[in-house]
This record gives sequence, C-alpha cells and structure tokens, in this order.
Amino acid sequence: MLQVINPATGILIRQYPKMSELSALNILERVAESHDEWRETDFPYRAERMRAAAGVLRGRAGEFAQLMTLEMGKPIAEARSEVEKCAISCEYYADHAERMLAPETANTEAARSYWTYRPLGIVLAVMPWNFPFWQVFRFATPNLMAGNAGVLKHASNVPGCALAIEEIFREANFPHDLFRTLLVDNSQVSGIIGDERVRAITVTGSVAAGKAIAEKAGALAKKTVLELGGSDPCLVLADADLGIATETCAKSRLINSGQSCIAAKRFVVVDAVHDAFVERFVERMNRAKMGDPMRDDTEVGPLARTDLRDALHDQVRRTVEAGARCVLGGEIPERDGAWYPPTVLVDVSPGMPAYGEELFGPVAAVIRVRDEEAAIKVANDTSFGLGAAIFTRDNERGERIARDRLEAGSCFVNALVKSDPRLPFGGIKESGYGRELSDLGIREFVNAKTVWVR
Ligand code: NAP
Repeated sequence: MLQVINPATGILIRQYPKMSELSALNILERVAESHDEWRETDFPYRAERMRAAAGVLRGRAGEFAQLMTLEMGKPIAEARSEVEKCAISCEYYADHAERMLAPETANTEAARSYWTYRPLGIVLAVMPWNFPFWQVFRFATPNLMAGNAGVLKHASNVPGCALAIEEIFREANFPHDLFRTLLVDNSQVSGIIGDERVRAITVTGSVAAGKAIAEKAGALAKKTVLELGGSDPCLVLADADLGIATETCAKSRLINSGQSCIAAKRFVVVDAVHDAFVERFVERMNRAKMGDPMRDDTEVGPLARTDLRDALHDQVRRTVEAGARCVLGGEIPERDGAWYPPTVLVDVSPGMPAYGEELFGPVAAVIRVRDEEAAIKVANDTSFGLGAAIFTRDNERGERIARDRLEAGSCFVNALVKSDPRLPFGGIKESGYGRELSDLGIREFVNAKTVWVR
C-alpha cells in the first residue's frame, strides 16, 4: 500500500494499493499504443491539447492546491502558484515547441541535408514530492510537445497528485494512455527501466536515487537526465544591499518550508558585513509564520514526512556538536506532524554536516569568510553544483563572478534562484547532468535525425 499521511497532523488520510509489475507492464503497452497515434500528430494539434491542459489546471487550481498541501504540507498559497506555473509552462511549450524543434539545414554536397528532431518514445519520469505538480509538468510539457509519451513514477507519499496529473491530460483530450501514472514503489523502478518500450528516463530526486537509476539505465544504454540534490551557496559581499540580501536569502531558505533543491542552503558572508547580516537575517527568519499550511498567511508549513524531519534534526544536532552555534530554532516542537522551525546555524565550517551535506528543510548554515575570493572558494567547495546566488551592489562584479567563477548550473545576481520555462535548468557535479526546460530541455529526449538526399 502507498500511504498518504497528512504531515501537518500525522494522520493517515488514505491508502492506495500498489500496482504489480504485471499491471505496470500492461499499462506500458497501452501507453505505447497511444504513442503510436501521438507521434504522427503535428505541432498545432499537440499545442491545442496543451493549452487545454492549462485550462484544466486553472479551472481546478483550488482543488489541486489543496491536494498538494494535504499530501505533502506545502503552504497553500505556494501550492496555488505552483498550479499556475504549470499552466504557464503548458502555454509556453504550446507556443514555442515547433520553433524549438524546427529542422536545421546544413550546406553540403547533397541536394538536401538537414537534421530533424523526432520523438524517442516513452519517457519514464521518477519524481520527488517537493513540487508534486511542477516537477512533473516541467518534464511533461516539453516532452509531450516533442511527440513523446510519459510514464510517471511519483514519490510514494503523493499518489493523489500523481493520479490527478494523469487525469488532467485525459481531460485535456490527449490520447487516453499517452500519460500514465504507475503506483509503484522504488524497488519496482528497475524492472520498468528494463522494459524495451521505455526509451529514456528522467529523474528528479536525491543523489542516491539518481545514481542507482542511472546505473541501471546505463547498463541498458538508455539515456538519462538527472536533476539531483543541491547545497546552493548564497554569497553576501561587503557592498551588498543588506535589505535585499536578507529578505531574498530568507525567502530562498524558507520557500516550500525549506524543501527546494535550489533553496539557498549555505550563506557565505564576508567578515565586513557578517554580524549585521546575521542580525537582520535571524530577525527575518524568526518572523516567518509557521503554522497550518491550509491558511493563506502561513509562510512555513510542516516538512513532508517525519522521517525526513528527524534526519534533518540529526544533521543540525551533529553540526552543533561539531562546534557550530544554533542562534534560532533547532528544537523539534511538541506537536503531532512533521514540524521543524526556521533555524539558523552560525560559525559553520568545513567538516560539519551543514557545510558538506544538503539540508532539506528551513535550516540556514552561515559561513563566515574573509573576502570575496574566500567566498568564491567556499561556494565551490561542495560536491553539488545546482544553483548559486550572489549579493553585491555592483551588478557587473556580480555578473562576472556568476558567469566565470561559480560552479553551478544557475547563478543569479541579487535575486532568488528559480526555474523558469524559458531558461535551461539543471546542475553539474553530483547535482546531475542534462537540462530541463528551454530549447535545451526539449531536445534531451529526441532523436536528432540526419537526413541526406542526393
Ligand atoms: P528521493 O528519495 O530520491 O525520491 C525521489 C524519487 O525517486 C521518488 O519517486 C522515489 O520513490 C524514487 N527513488 C528513491 N530511491 C530510488 C531508487 N533506489 N530507485 C528508484 N527510484 C528511487 O528524493 P526525495 O526525498 O523525494 O526528494 C528530495 C531530493 O530531491 C533532494 O535531494 C532534492 O534536492 C532533490 N530535488 C532535486 C531537484 C532538481 O531539480 N535538481 C528538484 C527537486 C528535488 P519513493 O518515494 O517510492 O521512494
């Protein structure tokens, strides 16, 4: 059984029977049949359905937002924005996929030579619970527009979201089985990857999950895109506008109750402004309203599961034991559910869990450094490379550091790191490889086919 436990209360809400391997393979057969039909359609036809999907999302936004909040605890206002972002993505790829995948001509001795982007087939998406709609639409909208089919293995704690997404594509008149959800657990993924109808796999999740899936896929020569964990640095330089820096850093750390891959996790602050930054930052983190995620004015909800909350608390405890100071939070509240308060650790240094590991919750690790050079060195001193942000009043200086020095897939200057359908998204190092979104993302799972006519 897949169990849904409301993380705000700890109460079991619903159980879903797991699918057997045989049922999963039967579904793959039906997806393959729908794909045979879909791959022959043209872009305007696909775009019409994708715009209809945006309409379904908007029409049922309140219901979908509630479902997300119930299953994984994100604040309801953020859940509503997430639904809207999915709708925007549907429209963006409806409008642009044809241009992004237009054939490209080469001047050769042939009468005609060019390459064209053809669909690959069924793409398996192994997805996490933290943005239960957006992570899925981020893969599905470009891929369905490219003519692929989608099979979703969602995180085990959000089966309701997984089934709702399947329903959205049906309601928008996509072929009946073009996008299907498999209610399976992680031990069943390997068998699905092994099915010859699955042509490629996209994974968003932890480094361990990404590596295990890529190993299996690699042995079968199937392409993967990996969007894995991160420990994004946020550099605060001596000339930073501390008002902008503290507000953006706190937002970045608290978004989705701290459970975002591209949340700022390490705050690398130069000596000259360290104390002033910490004072303002702690005040702002302390002001964040933690409470019922169904309320509109809640900024921080519960974490998604109590086991994840306990693992986070253990990282905090070990960091403090290693010599860091906890200046805000750091205690598990006495109430049912997966609660953890906004927490700030200072004097974090190499070797401590909060320096080297990903902290997936509202816990900020502040690292004091001498100057800009030291800040860049610390920022890059990580096995991850997903996002990074830098705060300085000198935009040119910030841009230079962002472009030339920081080892990350997305670097933002004086702004919150975020994903956007118009821009490539992905990481380097253990944060993964490949890109989602934009012209680059839509071309990950296509056959760039060369055609030569004498
Ligand atoms: P997770 O435990 O890795 O789970 C993600 C998905 O992978 C789930 O569907 C999970 O299924 C499945 N899975 C786990 N282990 C597997 C295995 N050995 N074989 C096959 N499938 C496996 O990660 P999470 O706790 O849900 O999500 C948090 C992590 O995701 C963080 O590290 C975060 O940074 C990362 N993330 C990255 C991005 C990005 O874009 N780079 C975005 C969001 C999140 P079960 O639920 O059944 O275990």
